[in-house]
Amino acid sequence: MRAMVYSSPLELQMREVDPPRPGPGEVLIRVDSVGVCGSELEGFASQSPRRKPPLIMGHEFSGIIAELGEGVEKFDIGDPVYVNPIEFCGKCDSCRRGEFPTCPNRILMSMDRAGAYADLVTAPAHRTYKFPAGLPMRAGAFVEPTAVAVRAVRLGCWNALPSYVLVFGAGTIGILCAQVAKALGKPKVMIVDTRDDRLEFARLFVDLAANSRCGDLRQTVRDFTDGAGFDLAIDAVGVSQTRAEAVAACRPGGTAVWCGIHSADTSLDGRDVVLAEKVVRGTYCYMDADFQKAADLLAAGEIEVESWTHHFPLEAAAEQFLALTRGETDYVKAVLHPG
Ligand SMILES: [Zn+2]
Ligand SMILES: [Zn+2]
Repeated sequence: MRAMVYSSPLELQMREVDPPRPGPGEVLIRVDSVGVCGSELEGFASQSPRRKPPLIMGHEFSGIIAELGEGVEKFDIGDPVYVNPIEFCGKCDSCRRGEFPTCPNRILMSMDRAGAYADLVTAPAHRTYKFPAGLPMRAGAFVEPTAVAVRAVRLGCWNALPSYVLVFGAGTIGILCAQVAKALGKPKVMIVDTRDDRLEFARLFVDLAANSRCGDLRQTVRDFTDGAGFDLAIDAVGVSQTRAEAVAACRPGGTAVWCGIHSADTSLDGRDVVLAEKVVRGTYCYMDADFQKAADLLAAGEIEVESWTHHFPLEAAAEQFLALTRGETDYVKAVLHPG
């Protein structure tokens, strides 16, 4: 089969490789659609030690059941499916507490096992789901990133549904967070970025799309929220400045959720966090219930993805990875199709 292999830093190569065979409890899937995730771009560009070449990446995907491993009965050949790419051990202290995202033994497709930038991929049957009615095959590639957004929004709704939500970063996760917030609670949503082209795509889904390079952001926050501040501010960028601005933009008692991971060091106004009783919460993935909710929202048409997405054959991955890394695309999200 053909596979797009991350072969060395800043390089992807289309190779002919042996097709995988499904082990016991696994399914073999013929890949239909697979999204390019920011975490994979980061691995490709920054030589992240979490992704070691040679590696087949791709963890946001949908496809068709091609073969069943021993003991798998819940699917038929030809069933359209999407996959939760993370497996948790179920035995460690984190798993016993129900805090699955912090399981130290978690296995992620595209990092710890082969992903879906290929004609065929194997996945555990218990992490594989039949398509709900109404979910187009291509939208299956959006269940995973939408699940990240569902968890980010839900973590900010721990005490009440928010009236005002702020999102930093008009990339895939930011645009999905804005749409999920609208779908779950009908708040007023503002999104902030430094790129006008991205804000143009995001504008469809929010009440205000603001470029932080133009004007006084803190004044814009006050004007938008009638002086109150945001109930929930999500940082989907992951640098010191946006993390700090997310916290600053929260109302007293408000919640900042950080889900971007570009840099480590962050400086914050700690007095503001203490005296205004603000909550700062990190997240990078999702619980099973978030994954299910994401599929339901997409199937119900509550999340729109096509207007800001471009589709490419798998062969175009190397070129599009470079263009995305350089910020030279006229779209936000790339979805690849091996077929
Ligand atoms: Zn992803
Ligand atoms: Zn565990």
